[in-house]
Formats: sequence, structure tokens, C-alpha cells
Amino acid sequence: MNELALVNHKLAGDRVIPMNCPKNFDKFTPGMPDTIIIHYTAGRDALSSAEYLRKDDIKASAHLIIGRNGEIYQLVDFNTVAWHAGESQYAGRTFFNRYSIGIELDNAGRLEKVGTEFQAWFGKKYQQNDALLAVHRNESHPTWWHTYTPEQIEACRQVCDLLIKSPAYSISSILGHEEIAPGRKTDPGPAFPLDKFRSMLLFQNRTDEPIQLAMEGKVVNADLLNIRQDPSIEAKKVAQPLKTGTEVTVLEEKNGWYRVETKITGWVSKGYIETKQ
Ligand SMILES: [Zn+2]
Repeated sequence: MNELALVNHKLAGDRVIPMNCPKNFDKFTPGMPDTIIIHYTAGRDALSSAEYLRKDDIKASAHLIIGRNGEIYQLVDFNTVAWHAGESQYAGRTFFNRYSIGIELDNAGRLEKVGTEFQAWFGKKYQQNDALLAVHRNESHPTWWHTYTPEQIEACRQVCDLLIKSPAYSISSILGHEEIAPGRKTDPGPAFPLDKFRSMLLFQNRTDEPIQLAMEGKVVNADLLNIRQDPSIEAKKVAQPLKTGTEVTVLEEKNGWYRVETKITGWVSKGYIETKQ
């Protein structure tokens, strides 16, 4: 991905598309912003979400909207308060707009399984490749979620990294909208690696590496575990079954299956994979 830079509270780079959002003009108070809030748009595509959020008569906005190819629309300068958090509360603070930069990622949000497809609230249907079955941090049962793209995650990581390192801001936390408005909001949801962002960008073990979804140090705990071409019991086996104790790296999770890498790569039922002792 091309380099991004920060110039006068704006992002600069080949993938940045500046958009004017004149309704937001209040500057942050000194020492702010110190938080980044991650959102999904629950929209059809990045451009339509950006066009919507910049409208004069819409009482919502965000600093950035990151598209699925890693393109970045900037609506509001980083030293200016945007309207993304709404009624919100976390760690003794309320109304997070005044403390935070809001980053929206183009993502449909929660999906409903309809036959073999996955439907967003606005009617658009997605295929199984773009859907993840997972339990939201504020809920107890798994539901379907639209996945994010690696390009989007990497663009978001680069932006967060720039903002954290910039002396112009004092960013010390990254939160999801779902954490500051639980019950009211579910974004960015379980498909976004929020905990990984925090651990990789904010703490002592911070790194400039891309954030992978891979998990290492896992082993097979079944006697013999079939490894398949696709995440389905009907899918073709790609090799002899994996034996107990075989070490694997988990590359991806989908529908109760892991795509794992050992000497070969394939899908296994995730219930038979555990962390190496
Ligand atoms: Zn949100």
C-alpha cells in the first residue's frame, strides 16, 4: 500500500480522497483528541456513506470513511470535532465526540442468512465468503457479520499508527462504538480485530507489522482430523487426516471452520483445534 502522511490535520496520499464537510467547524479543546473510535458504516459502499455523512441536514459525520479497497475519504480535519459517537459513555466520560477521532469502515454490519445468501438490513445480499459467524462482545449467541477486507484493515492500521505517533494528538486509546454505546450500537462488531489493534498499536509490544488474522501455536486435539478444500463437510479432502498434536497456524475463521496451514493449507472443524500447552 502507498505511503500515507499527515499534513495540517489532513491525510495525504494516493488513496486519500478529501471531501468537504462544512457543518463541522468546532475545534477540539487542548489535549484532545486522545481516543480513536472505530465504526462500521452499515452502508452499501464507501462513497455513498461519505456523501450521506457530509450532507448539511444529517446530524452525523466522521473524520474518515475507509473503503473496501483501502481508499480513504476524509470529511473532517483531525483537529475538528465530528459527530460520530452520539450518546456515549465509557470510563467515566460521556459524549465522546469531544474526545475522539471517528473512523468509519465500509461494512454492511450484521447479516441475516437467507437461503444460501447473507442479507444486509438495506437488502443487499452477500455470499458466504463475505460472511462470518461470530459472537458479538455484548451478546451471547453467534450471528452473521459482514467481513472486512485486508486492505481496509491495513489502511485503518496505518491511519491509527500515524495518529498515535503524531505529536499533534495525544491518542492513548482505541475503542469501538459498541463499547461506548453498548445496547445502542454494535459497530465495528466481531469481524473487526479491535483487541488486536489495541495490543499491537498501543502497548509495549507495539509493532509496525500488518495486523494478520493468523493465530499461531495451535494443535489438533482429535485422533484424526479431516482437512478440506472449503469450510464444509461436503468439501473435498486435500490430504490425509491430520493427527493429534499436529501444529497448525490458523489463517482464517468461517462458519465454525478454521483455514489452517501445516505442510499444506485447508479447512478443519474449529472444535478440534486448541492452543498448544
Ligand atoms: Zn458507529
